[in-house]
Amino acid sequence: MRGVDPVQQLAALLGAVQRVAVITGAGMSTESGIPDFRSPTGIYAQGVSEDVFDIRTFENNPTRFYRNIRPLIAGAWEAAPNPGHCALTALATDCGKDVSVVTQNIDTLHQQAGNPVVYPVHGTVETFTCEQCHGRVDGAGVWQRVVHGEDLPRHGDGGCNGILKPDIVFFGERLPEQVLSNAQAAVRRADLVVVAGSSMSVQPAAMLPAYRGAQCRLAVVNQAPTGVDAEADVVIRAKAGETLAAAVNAVR
Ligand code: NAD
Repeated sequence: MRGVDPVQQLAALLGAVQRVAVITGAGMSTESGIPDFRSPTGIYAQGVSEDVFDIRTFENNPTRFYRNIRPLIAGAWEAAPNPGHCALTALATDCGKDVSVVTQNIDTLHQQAGNPVVYPVHGTVETFTCEQCHGRVDGAGVWQRVVHGEDLPRHGDGGCNGILKPDIVFFGERLPEQVLSNAQAAVRRADLVVVAGSSMSVQPAAMLPAYRGAQCRLAVVNQAPTGVDAEADVVIRAKAGETLAAAVNAVR
């Protein structure tokens, strides 16, 4: 399809299929103002080192994690879904497609946009678990305490005073089994897999496209090269939010 406008190429693929699995990463939320990890303006370039998100660092020194994450959370708190998140809802509700979103993002913007099926394979910021009694705590209040200067949130208010850990998947941790298996099933039964805003360099999420069937098409919308470009039917180097919104509009 050389010479064809990339948005039209994606729209043509979306229009031709019924079951779509969209695999998203941090680049899906940069248009909402949340930095990704690996872009020139990303979290690593801002001086936060990769090991801050490693489970061993958290277990040894949770305060280091909370101090580093504070400015990120403060910024992310105000973020809202962008036109790309909303387009995935429209693809299901207005275009009648069967849409599953498999996201590596922990920010809940897909859920806030009303995407009908979301598998957050790296967990979300919505809840915390107490390291001591394993009690579950709602996230909003705890993050507010962190943003306002608390370096080590504990299970208070009648809780056991254990250290709270957010229910996100740190490097070195296993992914939630049931969510991952649902995500694999969504990819397996898809007619089209769209990778949007992910470098596809974090395992095992990066392996998810490999679960697609032989007839399934693969499209990539990402500003930088990804690990699955070579096997994709369409590669679009553009903003994920803008591109998805334009392509879904063309299908409506
Ligand atoms: P990544 O930083 O490795 O890759 C992001 C990719 O998105 C890059 O290739 C970048 O070029 C591209 N990109 C950035 N903005 C874009 C845009 N507007 N349109 C299209 N492409 C864009 O992130 P990843 O692949 O998601 O993997 C890293 C891990 O980071 C994941 O596990 C994720 O959980 C975590 N993370 C999540 C958030 C979030 O929840 N919003 C933010 C930062 C990191």
